[in-house]
Amino acid sequence: MNMVDNKSGPKLVSLLLFGACLGLAPSRVFAWGYVGHRAVGILAQQRLTPQALSAVQAILGQNDQGQDVGLADVATCPDDVKYAKQDPYTCAGAFELASGEQSAFGTVQIPWKASSSWHFANVPNSASPTAADIEQYCQDNTNGNPAKKCVMAQIKYDIQILETPGESLGNRQMALMFLTHFVGDEHQPLHVNDDNDWGGNKKKVIFEGKPWNLHSLWDDVFTPRYGAMTETGAAQAADSSDLAAKLDQDLGNRDTSAWTSIPDLPDEAAVESFDIAKNVIRPVYAQDYDPSQNAAVLGPDYVKQMQPIAYEQLEKAGVRLAYILNQIFAQPLIAPAPVVKSKASFEKALGGVLNFSFLKGAAWDGGN
Ligand SMILES: [Zn+2]
Repeated sequence: MNMVDNKSGPKLVSLLLFGACLGLAPSRVFAWGYVGHRAVGILAQQRLTPQALSAVQAILGQNDQGQDVGLADVATCPDDVKYAKQDPYTCAGAFELASGEQSAFGTVQIPWKASSSWHFANVPNSASPTAADIEQYCQDNTNGNPAKKCVMAQIKYDIQILETPGESLGNRQMALMFLTHFVGDEHQPLHVNDDNDWGGNKKKVIFEGKPWNLHSLWDDVFTPRYGAMTETGAAQAADSSDLAAKLDQDLGNRDTSAWTSIPDLPDEAAVESFDIAKNVIRPVYAQDYDPSQNAAVLGPDYVKQMQPIAYEQLEKAGVRLAYILNQIFAQPLIAPAPVVKSKASFEKALGGVLNFSFLKGAAWDGGN
């Protein structure tokens, strides 16, 4: 069975605000909808080394307004491209994906339905996976993407593309877009745990009197303005900045090295998510399940209990994404950084300084 992203939850506009467990401004946030994904991108970008930041900016370039595109901007593209109606699809106003394009991820299709299965892993709730064996639940792709159909394998593939010398700019843009999104998805516990219910999409929830499902509740409902999944543009960006600031404040100067000093980060992170779903989210669901309504009836107590877990998952996603990118781009892109005016001078600068040829032969629009 496949999980599906459920973006059809009701708009909850009149809910009471709760004091956050973290002593921050009142709001409830544990979203992996647009707002959560953007927040992970913001957290990660704040933690990039100067070298990694330069590389990210060189890959993502600028949008059609002439502004630098960041990780937060591309974080939601992989969800959008699954449903995009316009072909070519433009990610973050910066780069295009067009049907028929041959990429490292197979033939691009708009809408790119085949990419849907890369966002999660159907690990059965009855299993007890370890990092050594969790990828046994990943199936082969059939659409030209050589990596398996699950979020951990796709994260590893994105890293590989970003590390490959001479890889085209187009493939690197896609890899960075997917990586940013998938590291977020992987930390949503119900993206890595399935109980024959599409990762909780088939488990009904009544949250403060309104119908939801368990997966979409975890994806979307606790955004700062309730219903942020229907927000666009500025409202989304404002909410995600707000969320990222809260998470950053919560992180403070905490030592998070244990989150990254693990040998197989993508698979370890997947196991952590799985365990949260199995040991916390599903037992609590069962406890709050009301057979007469065929749903778990949830309210403020659920938020109090789950919010710290959700916050930490988002924080881990941001910290780990930064760590991965800092590792990939450990070499300085250009040192010392010259002013780059054109593709030719950029390549000359790169080629003259170090063996970092990922943009060679790629489309380069110049820019400053
Ligand atoms: Zn996703």
